[in-house]
Amino acid sequence: MPSRLPSVDSLLRHPACHPLIDRFGRPATLAALRQLLDDLRQAQALDAAEQGAEVLLGRLSERLAVQHQRRVRRVFNLTGTVLHTNLGRALLPEEAVEAVQTAARYPLNLEFDLATGKRGDRDDLIEGLIRELTGAEAVTVVNNNAAAVLLTLNSLGARKEGIISRGELIEIGGAFRIPDIMARAGVKLHEVGTTNRTHARDYEAAISPRTGLLMRVHRSNYSIEGFTAQVPTVELATLAHEHGVPLLEDLGSGSLLDLTRWGLPAEPTVRQALADGADVVTFSGDKLLGGPQAGLIVGRKELIAKIKKNPLKRALRVDKLTLAALEAVLGLYRDPDRLAERLPSLRLLTRPGPDILAQAERLLGPMAQALGQGWAVSVQAALGMIGSGSQPVARLPSGALCLRPHVSKRLRGRQLLALERALRRLPIPVLGRIDDDALWLDLRQLDDEPGFVAQLPRLTLEASE
Ligand SMILES: *Cc1c(COP(=O)(O)O)cnc(C)c1O
Repeated sequence: MPSRLPSVDSLLRHPACHPLIDRFGRPATLAALRQLLDDLRQAQALDAAEQGAEVLLGRLSERLAVQHQRRVRRVFNLTGTVLHTNLGRALLPEEAVEAVQTAARYPLNLEFDLATGKRGDRDDLIEGLIRELTGAEAVTVVNNNAAAVLLTLNSLGARKEGIISRGELIEIGGAFRIPDIMARAGVKLHEVGTTNRTHARDYEAAISPRTGLLMRVHRSNYSIEGFTAQVPTVELATLAHEHGVPLLEDLGSGSLLDLTRWGLPAEPTVRQALADGADVVTFSGDKLLGGPQAGLIVGRKELIAKIKKNPLKRALRVDKLTLAALEAVLGLYRDPDRLAERLPSLRLLTRPGPDILAQAERLLGPMAQALGQGWAVSVQAALGMIGSGSQPVARLPSGALCLRPHVSKRLRGRQLLALERALRRLPIPVLGRIDDDALWLDLRQLDDEPGFVAQLPRLTLEASE
């Protein structure tokens, strides 16, 4: 019976197979074809064979398309979290996209000084700009802020003690925990104070000849409220300098400008941390800064020089595409008045609530139509978040489409999961959030409205899911 399937050879020679070979190459087409025929024999699915070569090649085409689909895919982030770590954080401005394209296509002066014709240093390409924007004496850039913290700790505190408040021994999403990073950096953790209160005298009592540095970590993704005490950076810096050790400050997001200017929650700026006396400050490139993934290390010249000499720097350095994007993004900060128009992350974070609600009203009809009878679709006010550990308690007033299934409470969860799955299966997957027995699509980040609407008719909810 299985012999009723056409031969591999005859299928490969079939005219309907030629476009597949052209598109996917002969080896991949052949492999997928063999696999398909094997699967059919295993399943004894002879009806497919009876339908002939065209049907088989149609299935082959589908299989190849799935196999060759890119794994790195664009999505619609309608979760309400703007700088979503799992969805790639900041979106780059056009200026940065162009800079990346040029850097990708052509040779460039990555480590070549065009003025002298001699070997250059890649950090020099962005040092001037970062100094201008932060007031730092010197700068070096690595792959991300975790790398920046690791490298700085190792360069300045290896085989010595690092003093830090118990209230700042944080874990950032994933595997970044300050005590672990310290250990890997070869710095002996000396924790002082308590979770909610740490005083200058706690640090002072801990300082000894074994001390290599004092460290302050921005709490980023959590907040401590109530009976609390933290030593201001100015005071901590004075203490560190009296004892001849540097103060390292990990700012996490580290904004370059005061965000309250745009009505956003206050976040410490890099300039302020340096002005308060921190000797080295580290922060991310793709959080509030709105650029590519990178870790920026800024501060006193002799300390940055020491960091740059560490062999780990070579292992953690950034590539040319990152540098190109970073320079373009930093360039936009020279004109703060237009920053909110030009930098996507800031534009999205400051998008007015009424504007988002108006967009939700426009999408109400198309969404209701795509979902059909079983669902109630409404426009609702919603609260989003900045994300990436910035301002965990702050909420961004936003607008959302709220999708609620018309079924008994018992079945609602399953329906919502089915809808979530269906949205993820769209050509550009749509990611929302389930809350309060409904699926919410927060529209703060929906720039490409036509693209979103165009694919709605393809939404297919499997009834039995
Ligand atoms: C986010 C964050 C980090 C890690 O930065 P990445 O750029 O994600 O590597 C480190 N420290 C703090 C305080 C942070 O908020």
